[in-house]
Amino acid sequence: MHDIVLIPGDGIGPEITKAVTTIFQEAKAPINWIECSAGLSAHEELGNPLPEETLEAIKKYRIALKGPLTTPVGASFRSINVALRKKFKLHSNIRPAKTLPHIESRFDNIDLVMFRENTEGLYIGKEKWIQEDEHAESIAVVTREASEKIVRAAFEYAKNNGRKKVTLVHKANILKYTCGLFMEVGEQIAAEYPEIEYEDLIVDNMAMQMVMYPNKYDVIVTTNLFGDILSDLASGLVGGLGLTGAANIGDDAAIFEAVHGSAPDIAGQNKANPIAFLLSSLMLLEYIGEQEVADTIRQAIYETLADKSVCTPDIGGSGSTTTFTEAVCERLA
Ligand code: NAD
Repeated sequence: MHDIVLIPGDGIGPEITKAVTTIFQEAKAPINWIECSAGLSAHEELGNPLPEETLEAIKKYRIALKGPLTTPVGASFRSINVALRKKFKLHSNIRPAKTLPHIESRFDNIDLVMFRENTEGLYIGKEKWIQEDEHAESIAVVTREASEKIVRAAFEYAKNNGRKKVTLVHKANILKYTCGLFMEVGEQIAAEYPEIEYEDLIVDNMAMQMVMYPNKYDVIVTTNLFGDILSDLASGLVGGLGLTGAANIGDDAAIFEAVHGSAPDIAGQNKANPIAFLLSSLMLLEYIGEQEVADTIRQAIYETLADKSVCTPDIGGSGSTTTFTEAVCERLA
């Protein structure tokens, strides 16, 4: 049995968490969940959006599955997702976007993996407001160390998974120091992997290329802000935010989560698509070496997608979170 921290999160979080735990139980996945809280629900119930017990549990068990956490807009607490990434130095955010069977999307055979630097760039939270002349400032930080970690992670993944090409995305023409350093690191590390094709693209061009010729791309590596935006774009290419999982990997901990947020517009309505969170939980199973049970659950999910009467409305279904979960469980049984 593996002890894994489970944070159901906010909005649709508890509904998609229930889907994962129910399916894992049916598949006899050898997981012992250690349930903890974080986010807006923890803020409201416990007065702290990131309770000490949750931090201690992640420190102790090192691997967590985390539902989406709401970040209130404006002057409330800052993003707990960003805080967790910083606290546990989760330098690599990995988001695969792969065409799923029976899901209609604009393109076929998409199989991209996005590596997003997760701890710095414009997301370090160094912002200030200067009242006198009413202006705001935000600082971006890029270090050689973090750039090397994410670029190396992308090349290692490419090497170990038979991938052919790594594309580094930047804006070094304008952001000469921050993106310039990221690009320099990319070129240095690429030279160590001569068997893997390497290219770099400016982010605005990449956004256009991805919507016109997504099949040209394989592994993509980029800075925090660009990765945030382009990975949602990549989700859109394969059918939407409800269909892509993500891993946040660091040296001492790993936190798996869906790409999407807490979807307050549909929370509590049994409409949330659990597939993204399920795919994240399969990435977790693979990470801890439970490949066989991950493959079994993935197969059951793929087969279930053929029956639109049990799928959620966001993918053209007439079912719900629970009908999809039950149908996957029936296949597993
Ligand atoms: P969102 O991803 O929550 O929702 C965007 C749209 O996609 C909504 O229309 C929503 O209904 C739909 N959607 C998202 N997930 C879905 C699913 N599983 N099934 C069906 N439809 C789904 O983005 P948002 O509305 O910009 O953000 C809401 C909150 O989530 C904010 O507080 C934001 O900060 C937070 N957020 C958290 C994370 C995270 O925890 N990793 C990521 C993104 C946003």
